[in-house]
Amino acid sequence: MTTQENRSTILEYIFRHAPVARSTIAKKTQITPATVTSISSNFIQEGIIRELGSDETLGDSSPGRKKILLDIVPDHVYSMGVEFTLRHVRFLICNLRGKPVFETSILRKAEPKENITEFLIHKITEILDSLPEISNSLIGIGVAVPGHIDHKQDKVIVNSSTFPGFSGKELKKRLPFPVICENNVRCMAFGRYLFDKSSPETFAFFHIGLGMFCAMMKDSRLFQGTNYYAGEIGHTIVNPEGKKCECGKRGCLQTYCSETWLLKYCRLLYNSNAATVLTSLKPSAEELTLEDISKAFSLGDPQVGSYISTALKYLGVTISNLAIIMNPDKIYLHCPLFSNKEISEELMDYIKQQLLFVDDPTDQTVNILPYNPLEGAAGAAAYAIKQFYISVI
Ligand SMILES: [Zn+2]
Repeated sequence: MTTQENRSTILEYIFRHAPVARSTIAKKTQITPATVTSISSNFIQEGIIRELGSDETLGDSSPGRKKILLDIVPDHVYSMGVEFTLRHVRFLICNLRGKPVFETSILRKAEPKENITEFLIHKITEILDSLPEISNSLIGIGVAVPGHIDHKQDKVIVNSSTFPGFSGKELKKRLPFPVICENNVRCMAFGRYLFDKSSPETFAFFHIGLGMFCAMMKDSRLFQGTNYYAGEIGHTIVNPEGKKCECGKRGCLQTYCSETWLLKYCRLLYNSNAATVLTSLKPSAEELTLEDISKAFSLGDPQVGSYISTALKYLGVTISNLAIIMNPDKIYLHCPLFSNKEISEELMDYIKQQLLFVDDPTDQTVNILPYNPLEGAAGAAAYAIKQFYISVI
């Protein structure tokens, strides 16, 4: 390995395992103890890492020589993450441990012809101009996009009718900081890896929002696959006789459980003559939100209950299929609907029924995360730390 590669490997190890002794880093990364000592001295001089004291003072009373433990300097530099969806644009600046020092969310008005690139450039510039001290220490900007990145051609593929004029290249050209674009759910997975030290090195991150996607971390790397559509779990078939999906196939998972489809069913129900509590929650079908659907479920609306139960049943099947095929150490689930305890418990029941023959209890594998609207922006900031700090340090 080159010195640069050794530096990156050691720094990433400290990010994930701090506080950690030099000897442990050498053993786990298989870099010689002499190289670890020399590189960590340079890091300390450069203000990138710091010594925390010995493992004895930190409560480890194992016999032998005292070991000095190392940690990163969390506020050495900052990173910015941005996520845009049909509804919101979210901005977050955080330190190297993911602690936000600035965050804001802007509700997008229903203006389909708005040029999102110009909007992002304008808003990012405005934010950074208002925070000169942080801007001076900013390493770069990660942009979480609701689409794919074709890494072979360095092209961002988003739905151009939904986001006309989005150009990652234009962002890179016009912003005075390094910019990296990545799929929003892949960003979330990377954020979980970098900022949550309890996360394993191989896991799946399954996000359900307007659409859905499942990103895989495999041995500390984001799994790419041959094509950019690896992870498009929303288009796996759960019922071959089901409704026609926008992709042309029938019975795709997302036609049962994406927010877009659930809202579609509930708006049709609202406008039908059937009795439903939805009509008491909002004055018009268009105003219904996912929170209303969750509320109607808890109030016992039979039809909404049936939509949700079917969605959970198919999700349970898909998650247990995922556990069997990929066997990740963890499957993280992230969806605003799971903030409703009754819904998340019903989902866990379906998953357990599906995995009855597996020895390992599913509670160990499947982890429903508290829903965080800034998860994508934080993940994009983490991805920028990897690209512009850890990899090039
Ligand atoms: Zn489909």
